[in-house]
Amino acid sequence: MGLVVQKYGGSSVADAEGIKRVAKRIVDAKRNGNQVVVVVSAMGDTTDELIDLAEQVSPIPAGREFDMLLTAGERISMALLAMAIKNLGHEAQSFTGSQAGVITDSVHNKARIIDVTPGRIRTSIDEGNIAIVAGFQGVSQEGKNITTLGRGGSDTTAVALAAALDAEVCEIYTDVDGVFTADPRVVKKAKKIDWISFEDMLELAASGSKVLLHRCVEYARRYDIPIHVRSSFSGLRGTWVSNEPQGDQKVEHAIISGVAHDVSEAKVTVVGVPDKPGEAAAIFRAIANAEVNIDMVVQNVSAASTGLTDISFTLPKSEGRKAIDALERAKGTIGFESLRYDDQIAKISLVGAGMKTNPGVTAGFFEALSDAGVNIELISTSEIRISVVTRADDVNEAVRAVHTAFGLDSDSDEAVVYGGTGR
Ligand code: ADP
Ligand code: ASP
Ligand code: MG
Repeated sequence: MGLVVQKYGGSSVADAEGIKRVAKRIVDAKRNGNQVVVVVSAMGDTTDELIDLAEQVSPIPAGREFDMLLTAGERISMALLAMAIKNLGHEAQSFTGSQAGVITDSVHNKARIIDVTPGRIRTSIDEGNIAIVAGFQGVSQEGKNITTLGRGGSDTTAVALAAALDAEVCEIYTDVDGVFTADPRVVKKAKKIDWISFEDMLELAASGSKVLLHRCVEYARRYDIPIHVRSSFSGLRGTWVSNEPQGDQKVEHAIISGVAHDVSEAKVTVVGVPDKPGEAAAIFRAIANAEVNIDMVVQNVSAASTGLTDISFTLPKSEGRKAIDALERAKGTIGFESLRYDDQIAKISLVGAGMKTNPGVTAGFFEALSDAGVNIELISTSEIRISVVTRADDVNEAVRAVHTAFGLDSDSDEAVVYGGTGR
C-alpha cells in the first residue's frame, strides 16, 4: 500500500462546495488503496482577511499573537474537511501543525521547520483513518509557541510531512493545471510544463511563481521527494517536479523554462552614502539585525565632486517598515543623507538552465522589454536566471512580451484558471 500526501490550497477549499468536492477526491485516493495524509490551507482569502483585521487593531501586531490568529484559518478548514470525509462514510481525523509534530524555530511569521515527528499521524493512518493536517503552522522547539511558516507555507508543510513519512509522492492541488511557462492569469497562451527539474523550479519559485513556494521546493530537493502539481478542479495530469524525469514524463528541450513575475517587493534607496569602505556593510548589518531578508542590491557610481553614492535594494513589501525603521535608527552611525521607499515596482525574471550555454538570452530579454517600451530600473543575474525591476504598471505587458519573444506561447490551448482571486 502506498502513502500519498495531498495538499489542497485555499482556492480549492474556498467554500462548502469546494470542501465537499475535495473530500470526494481524497476518498477516491483512499479507495485506490493508498494511505492518505492531507494538508489543507485556509479557505479562500481567509488569511488575507485575518491580516487585514489584525492591522485594524494594531499597525504592527505582535508576532506571537499574529501567528496565533493566522493559524485559526487552517484549523477551520481542517475540521470541516474531516467532517465532510466522515459524511462520505470514511474515517478522518484532523490535527493542528503542532499535533502533527511540525517543530520550528522561534521566528514568528516566517518560522523554519527544524524537525517533523509525525508519530500521531502515523498511528492515525495505520488505524485506517485519513489524516488531515493544518498547513502553514508548527510549534517552536524553544518556548512551545505556535508559529507560522510564511505566506504559502502549506506547500512546505506538505513536503516536510511527505519526507518524514517517506511518502511516494507529494501532490499539490491548486486552481491551475500545473506549472506553466508563465502565470496563466497574466499569459493566456502560457504552456503547461510536463516535467521540470528542482533546479529550474527553485529559480521560478524564488522569482515569484507562487504556484509552489521556494522553501517547499528546497525541502523536496533535499529529501528527493517528487512533487506533482495539479488542479483539484480537473482530472488532468499536472506537472512533475523532480531530479530526473520518470517514465513518460515529457522533457521539453527548451532553453527557457519560463517567465516569472513578482509584485510583492519594494525598493529602498539609501541616498548620499559616503563612498568609503564599511558603508555597505553597516547598512546591511542594520537590515540583517532587524531580521529582514533582502533580494537585489545595486550601488551606483559615486559622483566625483561629492564623494557620495546611492545604494538601492529590494525586499518584501511586508518587511519595508521594519527596514526603514532600522535604517533611520542607524542613520547617525552610517551617515547617509536620506531614504526613499518605492512600492510600485515589479520584478520580471527569465529562468532556464539552457541559459548557461546559449549566448544572446540576455540581449533577447532586454530587446523584448525595450520593444514593449518597458524601462529597466535594476538588473540581477544568476547562472540560470535574469531578473529586472520595472514599474509595477508595466508588469503584465512586459511578461507577455518576453513570453512571446522567447517562443513560449502555446499555439493550441488557452491556459485555464479554475478558481481563486489571484490575491
Ligand atoms: P493555492 O491557493 O492553491 O496555494 P496559489 O494562489 O498559492 O494557490 O498558487 C496558484 C496560483 O499561482 C495560480 O492561480 C497562478 O495564478 C499562480 N502562478 C504564478 N506563476 C505560475 C506558473 N508559472 N504556473 C502556474 N501558476 C502560476
Ligand atoms: N493560508 C496561508 C496563506 O494564505 C498558507 C497557505 O495557503 O499556504 O499564505
Ligand atoms: Mg500557494
